[in-house]
Amino acid sequence: MDFEQLRKVLSLEQSRGYTNTAVSGGLDRLLERFAKENPKRIPLPYPSYAELNLPDRENWVRSLLEPGQPQKPPHRKPAGSAKPVVSLDSPITALKGISTRLVPRFHKLDLNTVRDILYFFPRRHIDYSSPVPIARLKPGEEQSIVVQVWQATRRKTRRMEVIDVIVGDDTGTMSIAFFNQPYLLEKFNPNTRLILSGKADIRQGQRTFQPSSYEFLGRNDVFEAGQIIPVYPLTEGLYPRQVRRLVLQALDTCLPGLPDFLPEAVRQNARLMDLPEAIRLAHYPEDETSGQKARRRLAFDELFIIQIGVLARRYQRRQGARSIRLEPDTAYLSRFLESLPFELTTAQQEALKDVIKDLSSTRPMSRLLHGDVGSGKTVVATAAMLVTVAVGAQAALMAPTEILAEQHFNGICKLLGNTAGEGILRSFNSVLGRPITIGLLTGSTRQKGKKELQQKVAGGEVDILIGTQALIQKNVGFHKLGLAVVDEQHRFGVMQRLALKQKGISPHMLAMSATPIPRTLALTLYGDMDISLIDEMPPGRRPIKTRQLKRNQRQSGYNFIRKQVKEGRQAYIICPLVEESEVSEAKAATVEHERLSREVFPELRLGLLHGRMSSTAKDEVMQQFRSGEVDILVSTSVVEVGVDVPNATVMLVEGADRFGLSQLHQFRGRIWRSSHQAYCMLQADHPSEMGRARLQIMEETHNGFVLAEKDLEMRGPGEFFGTRQSGLPDLKMARLTDVKLLELARREAQRLFKADPQLKKPDHRLLAAEVARFWGEKEEAPSHLPDHS
Ligand code: ADP
Ligand code: MG
Repeated sequence: MDFEQLRKVLSLEQSRGYTNTAVSGGLDRLLERFAKENPKRIPLPYPSYAELNLPDRENWVRSLLEPGQPQKPPHRKPAGSAKPVVSLDSPITALKGISTRLVPRFHKLDLNTVRDILYFFPRRHIDYSSPVPIARLKPGEEQSIVVQVWQATRRKTRRMEVIDVIVGDDTGTMSIAFFNQPYLLEKFNPNTRLILSGKADIRQGQRTFQPSSYEFLGRNDVFEAGQIIPVYPLTEGLYPRQVRRLVLQALDTCLPGLPDFLPEAVRQNARLMDLPEAIRLAHYPEDETSGQKARRRLAFDELFIIQIGVLARRYQRRQGARSIRLEPDTAYLSRFLESLPFELTTAQQEALKDVIKDLSSTRPMSRLLHGDVGSGKTVVATAAMLVTVAVGAQAALMAPTEILAEQHFNGICKLLGNTAGEGILRSFNSVLGRPITIGLLTGSTRQKGKKELQQKVAGGEVDILIGTQALIQKNVGFHKLGLAVVDEQHRFGVMQRLALKQKGISPHMLAMSATPIPRTLALTLYGDMDISLIDEMPPGRRPIKTRQLKRNQRQSGYNFIRKQVKEGRQAYIICPLVEESEVSEAKAATVEHERLSREVFPELRLGLLHGRMSSTAKDEVMQQFRSGEVDILVSTSVVEVGVDVPNATVMLVEGADRFGLSQLHQFRGRIWRSSHQAYCMLQADHPSEMGRARLQIMEETHNGFVLAEKDLEMRGPGEFFGTRQSGLPDLKMARLTDVKLLELARREAQRLFKADPQLKKPDHRLLAAEVARFWGEKEEAPSHLPDHS
């Protein structure tokens, strides 16, 4: 190929707007060939044409087509300005070297601004500093190796697909197995170079290796000796190298001169390093200690800012407006309680007492009913709604999903006296001696019925409105909202809770949550609310029989499920956590669902639930499960919190040792809903000593709060246990297990807040902005939004 031919291609590329489409497969391969045949004729784009952004592509193409012409300055740098201004809020495209092709993929990871990149912390680090030759691998130790692929083959066992890869280096060969990731096969081409870290083992006289991480190396990749390399969460089509490059770019561009929002005094009291250094070391620690110190600083920030926000909300509430006094008529209340088919537990009675007391005050209630799964929070909330209706005000209950909302609608109608009903608007006689009207409003409420319902809500004809986030839409207005209830409150942002609240004039708020977190933590995170703990279960519930399965007992677990289904029950099978990403998790679940349908339970009806499905698709499969059209639900950890399918009484959790105790308990709560004996089987593939001990606790303990405390005790630092399992605010660095740091952050926040509750001092200006940003982005800005309470 000569230069003239190249020019033609480039002209075409120019006419197509630099979209890398002039030759099929992109320009880079062509350029490489050209460079080989004509060394030194042209400067090649760096790192590749595909990875340049549009202005840079334009510049490069023009430099070849119109040599000698002055180059157009790139769009992002306004002419005349000395330096590109990249601020933390700039879009990621402001960074150099990010290819337009990759931008949507970064967006998929929620990386939109430069700040997002700086705060995109690695999930872990791999110490690739000293790879070990195969011949010198020691069994049982975490080590890294650099190898070449010889051959990859695929085989099927009864329960999974395995890819066996034979790899080698100068000292020997060995086989590495990859499970349930069939799509990897085509990537392991002969001669592909890999760096892996993991543990070596000897099985049946053969060397094997269990990788905990691996990476493909390019032809010319030299990894730097002594490097501790960050491992970032990925998404489809994004390689570790690309993420690292962008992060490095962000670090280099933004860290110098980055101001620290934490006041000097706080930093000194808490002995914290400064912000730019902490961010840098969090990505590229020099050693373990520096990494830990960096994490400590960043974790402190999160906890501290949460605390400030919580304190600000409480402060506002104390200053706040007045709400309707709902002086409850206890005669109605006792009549209601007498009408129930059961007696309230002592804990429920206490909680109800708290609620009634709050309602009789003009200070708006803000109370959290905190109780384990199945502890009976709904009936307490229902009593509160009844009291509200009795004085002529309205009540609303918001649930996170349609299924839950419907469930509540049916359940609450039943509790209030209507045993069977149809339709989304029900009126029936009640203990109030007059009819009571309850409505259901969700996203799928039909247009016609919706209009009528909304009118009746606005006119005050509907006493209780139950629904999803549809409740907070603009066209929903209440006549006189006295009480707003939010179920599974951690599933909503503060913003959504606030929106519900603003449907009335300072209504009372009652939130419910089953998040089993230790009390100290609850106090910290929900410090702006008063808490009623329901720490007692209704009597007579048979404990779930929980049992660990040994490795060779999987088949008998399947048989047990089959038997239970024959007897009319339904089952959940929870797939293991896959670390890489939600995408691979969904993929793995899909493979597992497929396998189970084909090979294990061909005669049964299986459903699939994972986080990458649309919410309609999720609701649909849940609905099928509820109505009994699906016998076994194969699910990732997304299995809906609070969903009540009483007939589902069996659960098999795969990879059980990878979940936290609290999360296992949340799963288990799904089958604790009926008078049938429930069974939970925990399958762990290669549990450690500790893993087995933890699962044994699951067998013996049924109290979610006790489990949460144990979790906290047993999972030492180094184990992240956070948002995914408890639904708490999105913490990147803070470990909720770090009670000491939590208390430190709380103390410092209180001290600072006492001196300057509105963060008005000049020293606190940056902090105020940071607090507003954190709460504003995720939720509400506590000190800036008007609060009508
Ligand atoms: P959660 O706290 O998880 O929301 P629910 O309010 O859904 O729990 O209650 C779970 C089940 O227990 C419901 O079927 C409810 O009717 C029942 N229940 C609630 N309180 C009692 C009680 N005191 N005695 C017996 N059953 C109760
Ligand atoms: Mg509930």
